[in-house]
Amino acid sequence: MLTVDQFLKKIDKLDEDFDQKRIKLAYDYAANAHEGQKRYSGEPYITHPLQVAYRLLDFSPDEDMIVAALLHDVSEDTEKTLDDIEDAFGPSVRNLVRGLEKLSKVRSRIDEPAIENLRKMFVSMAADIRVILIKLCDRWHNMETLGHVRPEKQKRIAKETLDIYVPIASRLGIYRIKSELEDLCFQYVYPDYYDHIHEQLKDFTKQSSKFLSKLESTLTKFLTSEGYNVSISSRMKTSYSIYRKLRRKGKSNVDDIFDVFALRIVLPTVLGSSGAEDNGELYKVLGVIHSKWTPLANRFKDYVAVPKPNGYRSLHTTVIGLGPKEYNKPVEIQLRTEKMHQEAEFGVASHLVYKETGGNSAKSWFMEKIARRPKKQVLESQISWVKALDQLQSEISNNAEFIENLQVDLFNDRIFVLTPDGEVKDLPFGATPIDFAYAIHTDIGNRCHMAKVNGSVVPLDAELRSGQVVEILTKKKGEPNQYWLSFVKTASAKNKIKNYFKGKDSEKNTREGRDLLNKYLERIGKPVLDSDYSILKFFGGNRLTVSEREKVLEEIGLGMILPSQVVKAVFPLEDLLTSNQQIKTVRKSKKSKKKVIPKEVLVDGLKDLPVKFASCCKPRIGDPIDGFITRGNSITVHKSNCKIFNSSEKDRRIGVSWAHMSANTKYRVNLVVELEDRIGLLRDLTMVVSNAGVNIVDISLQRSTSETVKLRHFILEVDSYEQLENLMSKIERIDNIISVKKID
Ligand code: MN
Repeated sequence: MLTVDQFLKKIDKLDEDFDQKRIKLAYDYAANAHEGQKRYSGEPYITHPLQVAYRLLDFSPDEDMIVAALLHDVSEDTEKTLDDIEDAFGPSVRNLVRGLEKLSKVRSRIDEPAIENLRKMFVSMAADIRVILIKLCDRWHNMETLGHVRPEKQKRIAKETLDIYVPIASRLGIYRIKSELEDLCFQYVYPDYYDHIHEQLKDFTKQSSKFLSKLESTLTKFLTSEGYNVSISSRMKTSYSIYRKLRRKGKSNVDDIFDVFALRIVLPTVLGSSGAEDNGELYKVLGVIHSKWTPLANRFKDYVAVPKPNGYRSLHTTVIGLGPKEYNKPVEIQLRTEKMHQEAEFGVASHLVYKETGGNSAKSWFMEKIARRPKKQVLESQISWVKALDQLQSEISNNAEFIENLQVDLFNDRIFVLTPDGEVKDLPFGATPIDFAYAIHTDIGNRCHMAKVNGSVVPLDAELRSGQVVEILTKKKGEPNQYWLSFVKTASAKNKIKNYFKGKDSEKNTREGRDLLNKYLERIGKPVLDSDYSILKFFGGNRLTVSEREKVLEEIGLGMILPSQVVKAVFPLEDLLTSNQQIKTVRKSKKSKKKVIPKEVLVDGLKDLPVKFASCCKPRIGDPIDGFITRGNSITVHKSNCKIFNSSEKDRRIGVSWAHMSANTKYRVNLVVELEDRIGLLRDLTMVVSNAGVNIVDISLQRSTSETVKLRHFILEVDSYEQLENLMSKIERIDNIISVKKID
């Protein structure tokens, strides 16, 4: 067990003039306040803050951070208040502890998406980045002791850590904490995969111990003979990153990937005469290695010239022929300097000199630091991080779509592509030339006409990859295409495209919206819009005037709502899957044959709540309905268009829906599929259907022309409209399928 003496000794070794007495005082203060409290493990509570502060010491903390780490649970879990802390240790420590307390309230709950918490976390984070570093150490120790926590809590906490803390550690470039957390979470969040990979890894480690040392010594001997004095170690990929890699590749065996481990060569940091880093040696060693062993062409990555956005720098290469006979797979080698190694382990913390902060926000403090430092290039990645943070904050709103986009941007891996001038653009994984064009300039995006990647023309929705040089060709009078919205990956491109269309002639949007909706209606076998757009009469719980209905069409045209959303809102499910399509798969008795569906209603999605049906409008099954909470706290169900309901108090209304789409109800639908015949198409089609868990009742072909074929009777049994809709989009995506329609 870690003792306070060991802790103080480690502080002593740090080359800092800390006031040891004050730190010891903070420890005694916390130990005293937590007196009698125990951790789940049964250990005295003080072991936890001590561990947190001890871990923090690796991140070159300032004195207040160490004090705050020791006191971090005091104000929340003991009699002592923030005021007491301020009296004893000053306002700066108080602010840190308060920040930590705020963060500890950020918990992901089942009813609240984790991403919402992430947002809050960022806001707090910008207030003082020191809080985040302490919090990461706090979570690190808590994860390490998670085994003592009740099992039902374990998974929630681990998931939260994976969703919130890991991305932040990664964004800050703190690989040491990131990989520790990932591995600790993995076993709780995905126990099955964890066991699977862990088992294999155990075998792998057993076998690899023999050849790993051979690999290391071969490489060392060779480099020494070439006159380089280097230190070589090997590094195993964490089980969680192996899991992720396997999933990405669709594989399941550790043997299927050859970078389970990497050899790591660390060279001394060399400073040139100007004081800037000179990394020439690094490239020389790389060249020597490449001249001896053949590198795999597509596996070389120069994160020194183009660092990752979180600041990570290293050269990665994979060579063939280095291994001994018993291991003849390609071997990954990573080269970095001492300095790069420090930065990779400690990320943003390796650049910080906390003493220079004026207790201000992280941003101004960063900016101040940047201004003082001569070696700007080192900090470039940090600047971009600060910029990103700044942008995040200014964009933060309660806009659900924004939050969704944020999730995409933050959680996916990043790629780095270059402009023809060599400027690096940092984009989310899967980004397309359109995203790239908008990242350069809104106007370039709007007028984007063609894209070239490494000199050849590519489709505008091509997935870009790191290291590619992308050139955008614009058209003078070019304009964005609605279709782009379906594939762009960045929130900013999406917003810019939408803004463009918002600014355009609304008549055109309305027209386009009408066409889109009509197309969709046709697809599902419904009559198209009439001149009054009467299907939109009741929409979103309101009765709409004709001009309001046009507004809905305009929004469809703008891409703000999807035709499918509208259709689901205006047609009761009963109508989308008509009752004559309904078949009973469970027949109880002859008597129940008549009573097809019980008149059951879900209140706010919940079953079995007592409801009454209003006598004013007498809702029937399938009608659009709404609920009203009466004075006596029972729920009355009205038709959505009921006058009495619509004049009722708004805050007593509650969402209700028909519950009859239960598991034992199936619907029989007829699709018409037009296709260009090719070998295996029918097999592909039936495969997609059966993979969706849908039963095929009947299928018959009709040849319309020599090339196209129609499936006239393609009769399926589905559980719900959602299932049908999903299936139809899947079918549409099969090669050589021309169209899919549902007919009544
Ligand atoms: Mn804690």
